[in-house]
Amino acid sequence: MADGAGRRLAEFHGFPGLPATHAMARADLHRALTEQALAQGVKIEYGRRLVEVEESRDGVTAVFADGSTAGADVLIGADGIRSTVRTLIDPSAPGPEYAGVLGFGGLVAEDVAPAEPGTMYFAFGSSFIGWWRLPDGRVCWFASLPRTEPLSWAEVQRIPAEQWLTRLRERYADHVPGERLLAHTAPDTLMATGPMERMPSVPHWHRGRLVLVGDAVHAPSSSSGQGASLAIESAVELARCLRDLPDHAAAFGAYERLRRSRVELIGGNAAATNRAKAGQAGGPPAMPTPEQMFGPVHRHHIDWHATVPREAQ
Ligand SMILES: Cc1cc2nc3c(=O)[nH]c(=O)nc-3n(C[C@H](O)[C@H](O)[C@H](O)COP(=O)(O)OP(=O)(O)OC[C@H]3O[C@@H](n4cnc5c(N)ncnc54)[C@H](O)[C@@H]3O)c2cc1C
Repeated sequence: MADGAGRRLAEFHGFPGLPATHAMARADLHRALTEQALAQGVKIEYGRRLVEVEESRDGVTAVFADGSTAGADVLIGADGIRSTVRTLIDPSAPGPEYAGVLGFGGLVAEDVAPAEPGTMYFAFGSSFIGWWRLPDGRVCWFASLPRTEPLSWAEVQRIPAEQWLTRLRERYADHVPGERLLAHTAPDTLMATGPMERMPSVPHWHRGRLVLVGDAVHAPSSSSGQGASLAIESAVELARCLRDLPDHAAAFGAYERLRRSRVELIGGNAAATNRAKAGQAGGPPAMPTPEQMFGPVHRHHIDWHATVPREAQ
């Protein structure tokens, strides 16, 4: 971690007993997870859009936009930050909140910043930028632009990459190494990831045989770097509860009690980071404390083989 003027502030060396960091493109991770799921016998069907559910005493039927249906004991809504299942559980459920910043990334082929493979770098100062080296040798960076009025992802895409790069270069002028990373970024490598959004607290995580998991119920905003990790944790906890408790009602209740406080704590921390990035906190982005970065919140461990205790019911 550095201060945006080229001065090193701190260095962290991972966690004892855990493997080193690996950087990979999201598409490669998707491919690896999909191949593993298929190998485990999971059936994946593409292009079916859930629009409605029909519930009975013994089960639930998912109704898709093409008119097809699928029946099951329970329906798990893992359908992301604009979840349909969330609204089916509670028509007055809140939707995502804009976090005050637009997200960007880009690729640099030249060596203009320190970038040891397996190391992630953060530079604070007047603006924040993070970067790391990809397996192909290029450096990938991520940064943000504050913006009061939200733009949708589609609106962000309509603005040419050159214009976004100009605005980013203005914002990161004199920033070390932001200025050099942006100067060496070609427009065709710019990734405009759109508005950062988070889910506020969702009052109802489940109803009847329907339950929510992942971004559908606890999207913490991408500045936390935790959304996918939390989604996976929740999926594992929900599976444990369904495995160990006598029925779906007991399982859903225990699952929410095991998860809600943790995901809301991390979501709240990310919201504070976004307020700082958007300049709403009255100063430049504050460097997180080591406790916030690597404290117990991020060293969470779930023992898959342990039975969910009765008191969690
Ligand atoms: C720019 C950016 C950077 C991020 N960086 C990180 C990071 O470093 N670390 C991290 O842990 N997380 C990160 N995240 C967050 C992470 O991507 C999400 O938390 C994660 O993808 C949530 O997984 P999910 O399965 O709950 O939802 P999603 O990945 O959103 O998947 C939902 C799926 O449901 C489908 N769907 C939606 N509605 C329907 C419907 N009606 N019928 C059928 N299917 C439907 C969608 O097509 C989609 O495939 C980042 C996010 C962004 C945007």
